[in-house]
Amino acid sequence: MSDAARVHELRGLIAAHDEAYYGHDAPTVPDADYDALVRELRALEAAHPELVDTDSPTRHVAAASSSVFSPVTHGEVMLSLDNVFDVEELGQWCERTARALDLDPEALAFAVEPKIDGLALSITYRDGQLVRAATRGDGRVGEDVTDNVKTIANVPHELTNAPGLLEVRGEVFLSREDFAALNARQRDAGAKEFANPRNAAAGSLRQKDPRVTASRSLSFLAYQLAVIDAPLTFTSHVATLAAMRAWGFFTAPETTRELGAAATIARSDWFAAHRHDVAYDIDGVVIKVDDLALREAMGSTSRAPRWAIARKLPPEERSTRLLAIEVSIGRTGRATPYAVLEPVVVAGSTVAMATLHNQDQVALKDVRPGDLVIVRKAGDVIPEVVGPVPEKGRRRKGAWHFPSTCPQCHGPLERRGEESDTYCVNPRCPAQRLAQIVHFASRAAMDIEGLGEQRVAQLLALRLIDDVADLFFLRVEDLVDLEGFGELSANALIGAIADAKERPLSRVLIGLGIRHVGPVAAREVTKRLRTYDELASAKLEDLEAIEGIGPIIAGSLYEYLREEETIARVPRLREAGLALREPDVSAGVTTTLAGRAVVVTGAIAGLSRDEAEAAIVERGGTSPGSVSKKSYCVVVGEAPGASKLTRARELGVPLIPASEFARLLETGSWEATWSDA
Ligand code: NAD
Repeated sequence: MSDAARVHELRGLIAAHDEAYYGHDAPTVPDADYDALVRELRALEAAHPELVDTDSPTRHVAAASSSVFSPVTHGEVMLSLDNVFDVEELGQWCERTARALDLDPEALAFAVEPKIDGLALSITYRDGQLVRAATRGDGRVGEDVTDNVKTIANVPHELTNAPGLLEVRGEVFLSREDFAALNARQRDAGAKEFANPRNAAAGSLRQKDPRVTASRSLSFLAYQLAVIDAPLTFTSHVATLAAMRAWGFFTAPETTRELGAAATIARSDWFAAHRHDVAYDIDGVVIKVDDLALREAMGSTSRAPRWAIARKLPPEERSTRLLAIEVSIGRTGRATPYAVLEPVVVAGSTVAMATLHNQDQVALKDVRPGDLVIVRKAGDVIPEVVGPVPEKGRRRKGAWHFPSTCPQCHGPLERRGEESDTYCVNPRCPAQRLAQIVHFASRAAMDIEGLGEQRVAQLLALRLIDDVADLFFLRVEDLVDLEGFGELSANALIGAIADAKERPLSRVLIGLGIRHVGPVAAREVTKRLRTYDELASAKLEDLEAIEGIGPIIAGSLYEYLREEETIARVPRLREAGLALREPDVSAGVTTTLAGRAVVVTGAIAGLSRDEAEAAIVERGGTSPGSVSKKSYCVVVGEAPGASKLTRARELGVPLIPASEFARLLETGSWEATWSDA
């Protein structure tokens, strides 16, 4: 194909992707694939100036036509951003920018902000009153979404001390928490899940019925002010952000002002490293010249300002070939379909397998072996297959069918009642055994160091163990001659197993992997029933009466305690020397937080989230996952969730720093409050 033909083809492909992405909020390829097409087009246009066209997607802000909303002409154009993809390119951009201003790169100040993955919005205020809200559209003309935007909880309808005509610009987004909750609701309703928070936010905002928008927990983050006609003078970007904050807008708490290219690059690296510590999905870092007069001097191209750049972070979605769909068996017997993929680097690591959740999700996503599929991996979250990439002219294989027998033990797979999960119902299934013992030894449960999946599989294969209780009867001489073991490692493992005998009853319950009994339930139960014998003789009503234990948890625990296998296992654990008792840790602890709801956001040094919550509960309080009117205070740790901060500010719930946590536990009160200023 000639370069001219390829340019033509690329423009067509990009236009089709723009229509799907902006028009229908339903892209068919990952952003990384789209960006690669744009980069290829840019390179061809640079090599062939004769092929440059002012209508090229490299020259304008992409948009799609809209028939649902009325058009709105922006007071000042809304542009896109140019991109760099690594630190070197960012360094070059800083240098070029400084040089264009006749400055030393180390003497120029930049604001460094998260690039939230949502959609751009402009909200117009006249004398402090919200009069209109519009999407970016093609940059000049956007869509009127005023009624929908008025339903977003953190968008102020009225501003004080904001005279004249102003356009506040920012991003509409869904926090990671709200996105997960929305998708869980979609899943429960049997509806298709949203591919990512960006599409979910765009799809939720661009709704005909504002009530649908209102039900979606959207948030707005302000990052720009276009002063159209107002007696306001700001000289820097960070001062503008502070003013918007004072008007009641949420701005990114992570934004900083950095002097010089080196500090700016270092700060952008911080975002790359802490990408998953912020409460919302970010796909990059935005670097902006801080001085507004310098910005004015630099101006813009037809597509993007010259004074700002987006450093894109490694893509968390890639496309790759789906080689096969297989089924794995978990510790409860749950059969989870997963994709075997042509290995692909996603978010910096190679992915060769990804979960497909359950039978219904495979059907809903309609992925079939042989398809090109989108794979997503965000942080510590396990990689998943989002959906197929349509390929014109390619014949697909038939739909995949869930197997009727277990791939490990060949027993029947059964789907229970209304549940979407399928189970291997053979309690002797070796795959279940393996997963159960691995879970028992895991950090959240018995925390047996050095006992990972490989070793458990080895011990099972050699029939040295068959059940969790067998671990406690292993001897150094059983291990020392095995492959991968030596004297030291055999002694270490036996020592770690012996240490695990000291774990409290709650950890044993967690380790046994009883359905519906997670760490919180295990702790609540053992706070009341401190020994295994008390637990085993409790009536169903006794279990149901425990605070925080609903009928489902109580029923599952009650049944488990009466299963034949449990009845056989427990005496062996006892014989091995496990106390099966919960120490009374709350002895001497006063209930300083009785009846109070203390929300924790971000990390508290030296404490896991579970430990922090347990400390609150021990003192009579509760630690809910979200802020409400009833919250007593919010403890703000390292990298707090932005939506919790916003909500607390909206509701006037006190924010207190993590350094006050010890005082809070001890006295029920605090001295210093937290502020991000
Ligand atoms: P962009 O997303 O690369 O950058 C501009 C946008 O960044 C702004 O309009 C604003 O919405 C947002 N932004 C977030 N934080 C910001 C901040 N702090 N300051 C300023 N702006 C901020 O550009 P774009 O033109 O909106 O979209 C192009 C991108 O969209 C592509 O690179 C691609 O990733 C994606 N896209 C994907 C497809 C697809 O088919 N997958 C199609 C079209 C576009």
